[in-house]
Amino acid sequence: MENTRSRKSPEDFQFGRVIGEGSFSTVYLAKEVESGKEFAIKVCDKDHIIREKKQEYIKREKSALHLLSNSQGIIRLAYTFQDRSKLYFVLTYAPNGELLKYINKLGSLSIECVRFYSAELLRAIEEMHKKNIIHRDLKPENLLLNRDMHLLLADFGSSKILPEDYDYDIAQDEIERNREEKANESDDSNDIRLRNSRLVRRVSFVGTAQYVSPEVLNGDAPHLSTDLWAFGCIIYQMISGVPPFRGASDYLIFQKIKNLDFKFSDDFEEQAKDLITKLLRIRPKERLGANDSDEIRYHSIRSHPFFEGIVWNDIYKQKPPEIK
Ligand code: ATP
Repeated sequence: MENTRSRKSPEDFQFGRVIGEGSFSTVYLAKEVESGKEFAIKVCDKDHIIREKKQEYIKREKSALHLLSNSQGIIRLAYTFQDRSKLYFVLTYAPNGELLKYINKLGSLSIECVRFYSAELLRAIEEMHKKNIIHRDLKPENLLLNRDMHLLLADFGSSKILPEDYDYDIAQDEIERNREEKANESDDSNDIRLRNSRLVRRVSFVGTAQYVSPEVLNGDAPHLSTDLWAFGCIIYQMISGVPPFRGASDYLIFQKIKNLDFKFSDDFEEQAKDLITKLLRIRPKERLGANDSDEIRYHSIRSHPFFEGIVWNDIYKQKPPEIK
């Protein structure tokens, strides 16, 4: 990325209002003095990051955004720099905010909007997966809208970059072997069962409860199609206003996810139901698109009848439908 490493400093920007706050960052609207261009600058306090042990989160976000610097549909990291106490991430500014805001305001989106924004999201997922990056926290809060109301994918703190030679089956075998070894370490079977049942309740996961996939809950090997599960959840939410798996606690949501316990209301047309059903499959390899080869990824999703009428190649040059 040509600009990321050039030596910028806070003095090169005029800091304006706070756009948002994360758990360990503040995002400012800022203007680059030299060019007059607007950016969103995410400022993270180093001591806070160390105290909260979030170094990995920051590293992951930076590495993924570097790899995706020329990818359309993804927030661009223009520069990074630091001073003694803070880290600065200079990002494309998305003035129209989060897609979630529109879903919540309108209750749901028109089918034309759902089709268009699902198509843009799929394009962004294709870009990430081409680089072997799993986002792992796709949700409507992380889908930002630029000045022209095109979608920009943000927040790569939970992402995972898979090695080039990554093989899901080999990784999964290793996890199974480790599990067996751990189980054999104790010969008290009641003790194992007890520990396992406690584990179910204390499951640790990357992502956000409503969008987390069964394999993540299960502690299985990472898979690109974890993002396709969340993609199915987001399409569902754009149509109905709420995500498919809901409950009073994370634990209850996880039970529903593991049992694939969700229903379609009358708001869903047949093609949308069919697409969502083909994405929300318990086994990652059975999700629509999971078996596409690298060259044609995700043509099996693009050619689903739900997307009829979408012109994929110049989608970023098209005028998005008015949000309603
Ligand atoms: P957490 O770190 O707790 O997961 P987060 O990911 O929302 O929270 P940030 O990435 O720091 O935290 O973002 C804080 C807020 O700033 C969010 O509400 C987000 O919508 C907004 N924001 C982040 N980046 C941009 C951007 N490039 N353009 C416009 N708004 C942004």
